[in-house]
Amino acid sequence: MKLVDTHCHIDNEKFNEDRIEVIKRIEENLEFAVNIGYDLESSRRTLRLTRVYDCIYGTVGFHPTDISKYTEEAEKELEDMAREEKIVAIGEIGLDYYWMEDPKEKQQEIFRRQLKLAQKLNMPVSIHTRDAMEDTVKILKEFPDIKGVIHCYPGSVETAKELIDRFYLGIGGALTFKNAKKLVNVVKEIPLDRLVLETDCPYMAPEPNRGKRNEPIYVKFVGEKIAEIKGISYEEVAKVTTENAKRLYSIGDR
Ligand SMILES: [Zn+2]
Repeated sequence: MKLVDTHCHIDNEKFNEDRIEVIKRIEENLEFAVNIGYDLESSRRTLRLTRVYDCIYGTVGFHPTDISKYTEEAEKELEDMAREEKIVAIGEIGLDYYWMEDPKEKQQEIFRRQLKLAQKLNMPVSIHTRDAMEDTVKILKEFPDIKGVIHCYPGSVETAKELIDRFYLGIGGALTFKNAKKLVNVVKEIPLDRLVLETDCPYMAPEPNRGKRNEPIYVKFVGEKIAEIKGISYEEVAKVTTENAKRLYSIGDR
């Protein structure tokens, strides 16, 4: 079974030179990849990619560090785009208290508005949370029917256990880094059927490519690492995480 990259940004300018080749490698090596919007422009680019390439699905939304242009009008356009066939989630949305581009209250307001949008459309969400886990969990509890994925899961095993009844945990290249002890523990303790693989490319390249440009096919290094940590076969990791990704985004067998 082939892997899925559940979170990538191939509309990023770092792929301007060779995007077609990168997508060809997805086509040949992965089940599919999900390109993630982070503002209006990137959501539009995402939609275009999903229309052109079979192997690309997408999400639309405003990342918490990019909410300055979130308006009523933008929200309406998000909704229109979200109704398109291959747009499979609202995201990435959430809270980022590390960069703190906008005050906490503003971030929480826009996070809630996009959760309401997902609720209205009955769609899953892709959550970004950095140095803000407590408030993230608190707000998600206000929306008990919302499901989705906590992308690049940064939390503890305890918090993971609170979330996995309705959220998958997105595991990326950070798992392969030397200081990944906390995340290794999460992967050890949380059942495979709650994990999905991601790259967050062009960022977060896994070992042995750390520091270089990342791309979707490198999810295989994350898959290998999970197999090693859990003491199971790579094939088992591939099979279960790909099924999880399809369930997460409601994507049928292709
Ligand atoms: Zn991302």
